[in-house]
Amino acid sequence: AEPFFNPHVEALPKYNAGLTLASARAASGLERIARLASNENPYGCSPAVQQALADGAVELWRYSDPSCELLRAALGKRLDVELGNIVVGNGSEEMIAAASRAFLTAGGIALTVAPCFGLHEIEPLAVGASVTKIPMTAELDFDVTGLEAALAQAPNILFLPSPWNPVGAALDRDGLARLIEAAPATTLFVLDEAYREFVSDAIPDGLEMLRRTQRPYIVLRTFSKAFGLAGLRVGYAVCSSPRIAKMLAAAKTPFNVNAMAQAAAVAALGDEAWMNAAVNRLTVERDRVSKALRNLGLRVARSEGNFLFFDAARDSAQLATALLKAGVVVKPWLEPGYRTFIRVSTGTVAENDQFLDALRAIV
Ligand code: PMP
Repeated sequence: AEPFFNPHVEALPKYNAGLTLASARAASGLERIARLASNENPYGCSPAVQQALADGAVELWRYSDPSCELLRAALGKRLDVELGNIVVGNGSEEMIAAASRAFLTAGGIALTVAPCFGLHEIEPLAVGASVTKIPMTAELDFDVTGLEAALAQAPNILFLPSPWNPVGAALDRDGLARLIEAAPATTLFVLDEAYREFVSDAIPDGLEMLRRTQRPYIVLRTFSKAFGLAGLRVGYAVCSSPRIAKMLAAAKTPFNVNAMAQAAAVAALGDEAWMNAAVNRLTVERDRVSKALRNLGLRVARSEGNFLFFDAARDSAQLATALLKAGVVVKPWLEPGYRTFIRVSTGTVAENDQFLDALRAIV
């Protein structure tokens, strides 16, 4: 006899995480690895964070604050949002899971884009919902018209990443306004701004735009990318109403954000200058790598994040294996229709050069 296996969970597509340092070293036989598969910040985090976590600063024997009071207060002040509208998660990925549990059920419909961020598909599928995906255009951009048509079908929830992981494009003011307009009031508009800090001045602040409407929304942001705290797992949701925030809070685990992570995030917010300096270095490097890829004759999507998505014009899994032999870890896209695409994170100058040198030796 066997226990009941939830068929929705059994059938889930696998989340394809980047290789660990140890396995990349084992696979390549090299010591010097450029880890460019997970869109992390290679410069780490502010020294203020290290200080906040110094010996004895956090009471590790106490349970963490289940409501993240101090962190929400700091976020509320920074964003000019009421505390009751903010929920903090164990990474923003936990908020994607919570939103799926709270606002979808078996038979429900989630809408997103293709290629998609894994969890925008996995979490709705896990609760038995179905997922509609609108493919990127031939210009490697959002199909705003296609998304408008799909929104007219009134999905229960929209997971819209902008900047778009993996593609890199971000919606401009007109594009985002059109989608906000097209979404029925019964559709929960989830705007995932994990890479918000990297965008150029031309890209609007999605939270600013959504809060001027009457519609239900959740804006997701994270400390994993620009703030360099991916390993601590802190992200948050800004909700259009306390009622929506309460639903997310009910769908998460009680002590979801550990005490070190809460203290670190508060400290990181206190040193935004450090974050801005890292972002400036990374966006300059991103544009340099993009140009180098184009010079190799490759098609590269416009990027507003800390990563690039390009058509390698060959099997991406094989190319990723070849790059790994040179100590470079990238993310080959395995979603049907995009199997010649690679996503590469922006690293330090040395890491990016290691990637470009390895690629030039192959293509
Ligand atoms: N949303 C998007 C679009 C992402 O790319 C990521 C991380 N790759 C996440 C959410 C989740 O990030 P975290 O859980 O680290 O906040």
